[in-house]
Formats: sequence, C-alpha cells, structure tokens
Amino acid sequence: MYKKIILLISFIFICGCSSKKQNNVGTIIEENENYIIGINYPITNTKIDTDIKEEVNKYYDSFKNKYSEKKTNKPELNIDYEFNYINNYINVALYIYINATEKEQYVKTFVYDLKQKKILSIDDITDDTDIIDYYIEINDMGQKEYSFILDNNSLTIFVQNENSFKGIDISVEDLDLKINLTSNKETKKANATLPEKVIDPNSKMVALTFDDGPSQYTEKIIEILKENDCNATFFVLGNKVSIYSDILIKSLNYGNELGNHSYNHKWLIKLNDEEILDQINKTQELIKEYTGYTPKLIRPTYGSLNDTIRNITDLDIVLWNVDTLDWKYKSSSRIVKNATKNLKDGNIILMHDTHKQTLEALPKIIQIIKEQGYECVTVSEMKEAQFIREKLNG
Ligand code: ZN
Repeated sequence: MYKKIILLISFIFICGCSSKKQNNVGTIIEENENYIIGINYPITNTKIDTDIKEEVNKYYDSFKNKYSEKKTNKPELNIDYEFNYINNYINVALYIYINATEKEQYVKTFVYDLKQKKILSIDDITDDTDIIDYYIEINDMGQKEYSFILDNNSLTIFVQNENSFKGIDISVEDLDLKINLTSNKETKKANATLPEKVIDPNSKMVALTFDDGPSQYTEKIIEILKENDCNATFFVLGNKVSIYSDILIKSLNYGNELGNHSYNHKWLIKLNDEEILDQINKTQELIKEYTGYTPKLIRPTYGSLNDTIRNITDLDIVLWNVDTLDWKYKSSSRIVKNATKNLKDGNIILMHDTHKQTLEALPKIIQIIKEQGYECVTVSEMKEAQFIREKLNG
C-alpha cells in the first residue's frame, strides 16, 4: 500500500512537470504624437514573471516620463526577448532598445531552475568561470561583470557597458557543466493543411485583420471565427512564432491567412536596409519552418511606410481603411462601433489579437457584418475577388 502511494505521488509529480503550461507572450504596443512603444516579453507561469514584468515596467515608466512631450524625432522604446525551455531550466533574455537622441541598448537575463524553484547564478551552472573570464578578456568586452543565458549549444555571456552591451557565445562543449542541457522538448513543427474554399467574387466582402499576435487570446479568436464561418488575416511577429506554432497551424487549417508584421515590432522606417531585411526575412523563415506556410503579405509596424520599405520587399504591403483603435479603448462596445459604423465592401479592418477587449468585441462585430450581408474573408481572398471583378467588368 505504502509503495502504491509513493508511486501515485511520483506519477503526479512527473505529470506536473511534463505537462508544461502554455507559455505566453505579453505585448504592449503604443503610439501617440510623442513616442512609439513596442514591447514583447515572455510569460512563463513561474515566479520569475514578477521580475520580468518589473524590469519591463521600469523601462516603460521611465521612457514615458522622459518623453511625455513632443520631440521632433519621435523616440522609440522596443523590448524584445529570447526565451527557451531546456529540461527544467527556463532561460530568458530581455533586450531593451531605446532610439531617441542617441541609441541605448540594455540586456537583462534570468535563468530559472523549475525543480529547485530558484534563479541560477553562474556558480550553479559551472565551475569553469576562468574560461568565461578568458573569453571576456580576448573579446575585449570592457568589464568583468556579466549576465548569461543558456541554450542547447551555448552559454551566452553579456557584458553591459553604459548604453550598450556585447554578447558572446561559448560552446557548452568548452565548459564542464553542472546541469544537464539535453533537451527533451518535442518540436512543434508541422505543416498546415489549407482548406479549399469557394468564394463568390461578387459577394460583398470585408477583411478582418489582427496585428501583433499571436497571444493568449488568439486561439479563442480563431474559434469564434470558425463558429461563424469567418476567416481573417493575422499579421504576426516572428519572435512569437515558435511559442505559438500550434495555434498558427490551427489558424491556417481553419482557412485564415498569416502575414508578416516584422520580427520584434521595431519601427521599420528607422532601420537601415540590412536591418529591415533581417526583420522581414527572419519572420518569413520562422513561419515557413514552423507551419510550412509562406506569407505573401506584410503590414509594416505602426503602418509607417516609405520608399525603402516599398522597394525592399516583394511581399504585398497591406495597410487598412478602418481602424478600431482597440489598443486604446478598453470598452468592447466602442470597438464594435469603430469596426462597423460605416461598413463598405472592401473594408480592411485593423484590430489586435493581443487584447481581451478585442476578443470580447469580436462576436458582435461578426454578427453585424453578417447581418449587413458581408462575407468575412482574408486579405488575399478579397484581393483576388477584386481582381476577378475588374477583369469581368473591364
Ligand atoms: Zn503592430
């Protein structure tokens, strides 16, 4: 009997460990006449979430305080992250980027042991700190103090110097590690199966579009769309693709379209050619790798467009003609009103699948769209229908 109880307990314990809770990504995107803010950070469902959020809030609050008045050059705050889960270890790096009068870059890392429930220091990882010191010295990184994260292959060391940081990767084979990094994580890469659809090109159409996701709300949004025989277009961020690959595949299987919305929501018009291409291509590759699908559309961040972006990509650039301002208003009835007050054939409606109020507003928006006799289709379906109509009429 005693043995049975022990077995039962260990069974529950093992199950509790392996059935990992869905990790999420928190998103804050704000734009006004004074500044631009694009923040993404991981939500790990562990106690480091408080530390991560505190760090994010620290930069968010101080940036907003500092730039509360209009400047000729709109300042930008961008926070991106790296996140991985190896065995019992969560590794998070937050990359803080401020582009104001000068460029500032900071990094903050967390390595968390889920079993011991503690944040690990370098001494918990390895005794080979002399090797790390050696790498720091030969790479001329400025100082001796560093932070770090791990992945399957390397230990990444960051040295912060005033307004910028340097990072180097040290192969884990060069170090005697005290922890086991052999990953047991199943890869969630699979190919979506796009459904065949028949759409009457002469029907009245609107295209619902969702930016900045996926997020914890996306799955519910695609279920609501499916229940109502609707499809939409999701302009996704590359840095969220691996975390939400299951939902992206499901979304494609339901007949929705995926578009590119950059890798980490940097303000594209402020980047050089190489950086813009990196933002676009990395996202294309990740979507292709995790879902088998290659996006044909791009929506530039903050809807900001210039000739460089027009010329640099072959993807179709898609903006919008109806803005719900769902990021600004917490009231779902206001979002419903903004989305539907003046419905016209060819409307492309801007929303964000990163807000609860958007999810709450969606059923009513769809109801009104349907009542007024519109189909909700993807952007590419709408473009194709418009093309066919032009051909028939011209
Ligand atoms: Zn956006």
